[in-house]
Amino acid sequence: MSGNAARLQAIQNITNRRPMPAKSPESLNSLWANDVFTLSKMKECLPKDIFKSVKKTIEASAQLDVSVADVVALAMKDWAMSKGALYYAHVFFPLTNATAEKHDSFISVQSDGSVISEFSGKVLVQGEPDGSSFPNGGIRSTFEARGYTAWDVTSPAYIMTTDNGATLCIPTVFVSWTGEALDKKTPLLRANAAMDKAAHRVLSLLGHTDIAPVNSSCGAEQEYFLVDANFVNSRPDLLLAGRTLFGASAAKGQQFDDHYFGAIPERVQVFMQDAEEQLYRLGIPAKTRHNEVAPGQFEIAPFFESANVATDHQQLLMTVLKNTAKKHGLVCLLHEKPFKGINGSGKHVNWSVGNSTQGNLLDPGHTPHSNTQFLLFCGAVIRGVHKYGPLLRAAIATASNDHRLGANEAPPAIMSVYLGSQLDNVFEQISNGKITGSLNAGVMDLGINTLPVFNKDSGDRNRTSPFAFTGNRFEFRAVGSGQSVAGPLVAMNTLLADSLNWVADTLESSLNKGASLDTAILDTLKEIIDQHGAVIFGGNGYSAEWHKMAVEERGLANLRTAADALPVLKEPYIEALFEKLGVLSPVELASRFEIYAEQYILAIEVEAKLVISMAKTGIYPAVVKYLSDLSVTINSLKANEVELSNEPLVQVTELLTAMMASVAKLSAAISQHDFATIEEHLQFCAKTVRPLMDEVRSFADGLEGEVADELWPFPTYQEMLFLK
Ligand code: ADP
Ligand code: MG
Repeated sequence: MSGNAARLQAIQNITNRRPMPAKSPESLNSLWANDVFTLSKMKECLPKDIFKSVKKTIEASAQLDVSVADVVALAMKDWAMSKGALYYAHVFFPLTNATAEKHDSFISVQSDGSVISEFSGKVLVQGEPDGSSFPNGGIRSTFEARGYTAWDVTSPAYIMTTDNGATLCIPTVFVSWTGEALDKKTPLLRANAAMDKAAHRVLSLLGHTDIAPVNSSCGAEQEYFLVDANFVNSRPDLLLAGRTLFGASAAKGQQFDDHYFGAIPERVQVFMQDAEEQLYRLGIPAKTRHNEVAPGQFEIAPFFESANVATDHQQLLMTVLKNTAKKHGLVCLLHEKPFKGINGSGKHVNWSVGNSTQGNLLDPGHTPHSNTQFLLFCGAVIRGVHKYGPLLRAAIATASNDHRLGANEAPPAIMSVYLGSQLDNVFEQISNGKITGSLNAGVMDLGINTLPVFNKDSGDRNRTSPFAFTGNRFEFRAVGSGQSVAGPLVAMNTLLADSLNWVADTLESSLNKGASLDTAILDTLKEIIDQHGAVIFGGNGYSAEWHKMAVEERGLANLRTAADALPVLKEPYIEALFEKLGVLSPVELASRFEIYAEQYILAIEVEAKLVISMAKTGIYPAVVKYLSDLSVTINSLKANEVELSNEPLVQVTELLTAMMASVAKLSAAISQHDFATIEEHLQFCAKTVRPLMDEVRSFADGLEGEVADELWPFPTYQEMLFLK
């Protein structure tokens, strides 16, 4: 339903809404991971030897032995059924940003017609959903639709409870019958393994003998908007595209800075508590909540976890936010730019690497010895971001994120690294070779001891950098709010793996030539900073000077739109990177380009169609009605010798005519289908379709400011952002 009646009804519903009472809080102990089949639950219900074997498998990320799997499956089924689940689902993460699940029941019908419950190890470990409708980018034709899901033992099974019942969910990888990865989890596990291997090499060269597996960690800060569902239901654009394609700015936006960190509105806090309770049950460590910059915008940040588990949890968190919002009569918008003129939403991905023996390898620590280790790992990141910056850019390239990047609210599309003044200075010293100057003739090993000891908060914050060092981790700040974090984590772990291998090769070669370890380290660091220092930038990333300097003087890429960034995935050096490290085969990488490009085109097509239909069937009729009412009034007043100016009539008519002319151009544009290459089609969407949509909008938003409010067919910015 749309039209002004729907709009007024929505406002009335909200005004008369009875607040949903806050639930009485449960104790953390009774909530925490209650719906997760954790290791400690397994320990309670599995025979000792079986538990030991499972634990070992998890630690080594290996597949379960079938005989062990049978016992685990039985215990898991009993546990799930005791919590009311009659169904189980292999949950996987296709190449959209979504989560997919296929539900099967535990029941097995017997020959006498009775049923028993059954769940074998084979079924736990492997599933075979017909994956033909998932995007595969040419990897499979539909007659070879078979895809397999396989349990990722490193991510625990859990129960997802909705009002419709409980389901046992098993996190899985999704591969084609020929073994190609069709999902986001498989490459993440592979990238992590490649990084582990490379980090191990470096740590060994540094003299460590006891080296536990190195894992990456991720803590993702999720921004989102909440809008009353009554409004969303009468806005086709929010309903189908998740963002407003029309809407004049309200008189008040975020200019007072009164929303950021303000008191959380009561209705929202009740929603947040409800969502957090479910997250705790799922073992997701929600930690921080607050109002964000824009009115109606909020943030939730869980405590960081291993990248693989954090990725699964991030997907779940988005689902929980959306579902819970619905229960509270709200819609949770995860789109990167739901409203024009106020901030959009991002997802800052905090990332570090470490293990149980050497700790966080991106933590500077307090001793000179760990400083050099830290500097090598930090240097490896710098080198990786410089060499593969365009890959990082491609990993965040979506139709929706294009609205944020480079819009003076989010980092620009230029990938640079912010280190903070202290680290900047250390690398500068290394580059100048000065740290050796104060030492006894050329004794480099002592030089290392002169490096300053870092304190954790040495670096100030730089909100304009896409990739910032924040004391003991990097924060990739340009990731989109609706995205899976898997892609960015794959890119980061892969480029780090490549750099660490380079560091190991370089150290080895120096050592083989007879250099001391300290000389080898310093030479390596110097080479990194000399070759890749151009990527380090501590100034204002929003400024025009930086955009010019980055491209012209430093040779950094400025890939403004996803249409510019996605083709990076086809570059031979990116293909070589993924292939060499065993993260993605050329076929798998090519399929990703196809799928992401297609999604970009489809997203823009859907929006363009919405623009056309909303303009034609919503705005045009309302404006015509206004014109007709107005001209009748003007004429009847004239009959009574009251002269009203014709000016508004003329102005509104002009705007309407211009809007419809733009609609016609947009319609013609989206009916164009003959493109020589996907790249050409991408550019057409970015450079022709999008600007035409903006053109229609500019006239429509102008009309919104002229036409009688009682006739306007769609909820306004003022209503959507400020009424709750
Ligand atoms: P801010 O908004 O100040 O950047 P938040 O506290 O909102 O900080 O979020 C920081 C995120 O970084 C949290 O998810 C936190 O758990 C995560 N984090 C902290 N330390 C690490 C680390 N070593 N590796 C990865 N993530 C981390
Ligand atoms: Mg942050």
